[in-house]
Amino acid sequence: MPGKVTVKDPFEVNLDCVHCGFCLPKCPTYQVLGDENDSPRGRIYLMDLVREGRLPLDDTVMTHLDRCLGCRACETACPSGVRYELMLNQTRGQIYENRPPSWIQRFAFRRVLPSPGLLHLGARLARLYQATLQHWVRSSRILSRSAPKLVEMEKKLPTVPPPDRLKAFYPAKGPRRARVGFLSGCVMPILFPEVHRASIQLLRRAGCEVVVPPGQRCCGALHSHAGDQEGAGRQARINTQAFPWRDLDAVVVNSAGCGAAMKEWSHLPESTGEMARFSHKVKDVCEFLVEMDPAWELGPVPLRVAYDDSCHLLHGQGIYSQPRALMAQIPELTLLEVPNSERCCGSAGIYNLLQPEIAGQLLDRKLDEILSVDPQRVATANPGCLMQIRFGLENSGASIPVQHPVELLYESVRAAPS
Ligand code: SF4
Ligand code: SF4
Repeated sequence: MPGKVTVKDPFEVNLDCVHCGFCLPKCPTYQVLGDENDSPRGRIYLMDLVREGRLPLDDTVMTHLDRCLGCRACETACPSGVRYELMLNQTRGQIYENRPPSWIQRFAFRRVLPSPGLLHLGARLARLYQATLQHWVRSSRILSRSAPKLVEMEKKLPTVPPPDRLKAFYPAKGPRRARVGFLSGCVMPILFPEVHRASIQLLRRAGCEVVVPPGQRCCGALHSHAGDQEGAGRQARINTQAFPWRDLDAVVVNSAGCGAAMKEWSHLPESTGEMARFSHKVKDVCEFLVEMDPAWELGPVPLRVAYDDSCHLLHGQGIYSQPRALMAQIPELTLLEVPNSERCCGSAGIYNLLQPEIAGQLLDRKLDEILSVDPQRVATANPGCLMQIRFGLENSGASIPVQHPVELLYESVRAAPS
């Protein structure tokens, strides 16, 4: 295929693993389960044996790999630069072929996620359900008797806000300094329209023209994590064609999981040179706003805010200081560091639905750590983390709003004296 990118086999990079074990104490599943097979070093060993044909990809191996959050804390901890996730994605591709997903998963990945129409229809039905049946379903416990597998999913269904369709173009406010593309994504416009609003308005105030191509689709991150590499590649191709990326200074993404996946499109099996060049333009919204360094007027937001790192921002994109720097600018805002902020909250895509016990233990630890700093709000930069921490706090009776850092910054911009 012309322009096809040749990528080094991730298992060759694995040769860099010196089995030092530095990654073990940083691995959330090792912390919870205490089994070497549920640690990065153990999983690397298992994946290597499978690849060499010395171990079958049987249920035991798949269980240890299924328990991996894909949080990439092991990569940050590794002194040898082992690219764990690349190996994991490749092996998950093999698992996907060996153990075909259920029809529900196939329908969700092949039909719903790539289709804005079906996503909006799903959102409308969810809103209708929440306005009418939800209270009765929960109080009657009908699901635990008739469809126990759906109980966890229903419990975690976030409140779906009214729709807010984006325009295809937003002009810069003031002199134009850059022209950027904006990833709308699949879940973000439906569950977090306020984060999109804040991101676009901040970009405009930073002097950016914002292009939101209507032909864009889900970025494919969820496909990739589930092992559907073909699906991930298809989504990457659609977006590469939909965005006028050659004429853009950056493609801005406010979902850490999407940004991390898009920055690594060159590692997809069918990656092209175009996909790789597109992916070099991808910037997280916090990363990009810090680079733009806008001279904006900010007003006070007198709150104690606990910031929790999202794994795909910190470990996946190496972004630590930028969200902190943006929030530190806000007058009267006290930024609080959550102990062990770098540890996963248990969300990890749909991990909290597939592995509810481990995810629940990780969430409990996260909530204790967040509450230990006594915040009035919590900030985190990924939709999965926003949902997981919101769910946990609401469930524990703590009414602490959880927001994306750009929402706080936008609140401060709006509070500025005019
Ligand atoms: S990705 Fe996360 S859960 Fe998986 S091995 Fe690495 S640190 Fe552990
Ligand atoms: S820290 Fe890196 S080199 Fe050490 S065991 Fe873990 S993956 Fe291997």
